[in-house]
Amino acid sequence: MRVDGRKNDELRQVSITRNFTKYAPGSVLVKFGDTKVLCTAFPEEKVPQFLRGTQEGWITAEYSMLPSSTQTRKPRDISRLKLDSRSAEIQRLIGRSLRSVTDLKMLGERTVWIDCDVLQADAGTRVASITGAYIALCDAVNDLIKKGILKENPVTDSVAAVSVGIVDGEMLTDLCYEEDSRAQVDMNVVMTGSGDIIELQLTGEKQPLKRKELDALLEMSKNAITEIIKVQLEAFRD
Ligand code: UDP
Repeated sequence: MRVDGRKNDELRQVSITRNFTKYAPGSVLVKFGDTKVLCTAFPEEKVPQFLRGTQEGWITAEYSMLPSSTQTRKPRDISRLKLDSRSAEIQRLIGRSLRSVTDLKMLGERTVWIDCDVLQADAGTRVASITGAYIALCDAVNDLIKKGILKENPVTDSVAAVSVGIVDGEMLTDLCYEEDSRAQVDMNVVMTGSGDIIELQLTGEKQPLKRKELDALLEMSKNAITEIIKVQLEAFRD
């Protein structure tokens, strides 16, 4: 029995609220149970140096946890004058995930800034961030279309993510912190709406993983991502 009474393959309640704050054209509050992340998307009419003159755009992300998002206060990175290496790893993952479903030529020479701020962390903050950031990106792109800045939608597929793992020998979907902190195997899976894999982050924390266990975890994550994509589609109808 899981701490919160879920079945092994059951997600926490996933919810997506669009237009959560008013200034960014994409602003989404995403919840995976007690994990809550604000994801915003803000276009900017310039690109990094390496893309200047190429007529190609860029999507980049920043990720941060608020001091009160964790059980003991997490000091802001600025207090140590450097970005936490975990945040750096996560924000690069978010950027890569969104770029992989966007035609950057079609986006044109502009950047979409994605900001993911964790309001409350109960594990799975990176997968919640990717899931919410995709909706924020779509809202920002649709705003550019509405304003006549873009003619076509450069987003080619949907993207969502989930964590799966092995805890006490049991394969579990969408680990909460209590499970994540004692997992033998922990995997973050990013997939497109078409079911293709964008990225797998797999760690055999306390034991190596057998190939057939990986296949089973992938199957579990695919089913979970299908459910998450349904929630994303419902959010677009609101
Ligand atoms: N966590 C924390 N403080 C930190 C880093 C992580 O309390 O500085 C907790 C938090 O609940 C987070 C969980 O550990 O969601 C799992 O962290 P991990 O690095 O695996 O990333 P996540 O699962 O959030 O993507």
